[in-house]
Amino acid sequence: MHSKSLYQEVILDHNRKPRNYGTLEHSNHHAVGHNPLCGDRLEIALNLDGQNIDGIAFHGESCAICKASASMMTSVVKGKTRSDAEILIQEFRDMALGKLDPSGEHHLGRLTVFAGVRDLPTRVKCAILPWHTLHAALNSVNSISTEAADDPVHASVDSAS
Ligand code: ZN
Repeated sequence: MHSKSLYQEVILDHNRKPRNYGTLEHSNHHAVGHNPLCGDRLEIALNLDGQNIDGIAFHGESCAICKASASMMTSVVKGKTRSDAEILIQEFRDMALGKLDPSGEHHLGRLTVFAGVRDLPTRVKCAILPWHTLHAALNSVNSISTEAADDPVHASVDSAS
């Protein structure tokens, strides 16, 4: 069911018409994420109302996979609580790194179309970057890089290759 064609269709659709692309009039958390290996750079702004993400937007220059991942991510986490978003961040990372079985129990829903990136090592960071940047924004870290020494995604990808 998570065929290559579905994956390509979703990526193309979100790349052509990215959801929540742009800036927010009111935001209280933001972060910039950078993936030097591909050249992806995106900024995520969100508005936390108490524990609730009541608005989120992204913009930047990125490849199709990164943009599609950001587009789907913003659609999914909008209206969710911060802790629900953190669960999704962890699950998405684990799935992209091949540590979560997409047919098992999780909260990812349609995001499982990205499960295939685990077989594309050069694309894993592209898919994870928006999630990693969201995590930074939620935790008031203003910029992250997939190549930073303390980057957990970087460490995992390296040890897997
Ligand atoms: Zn990329």
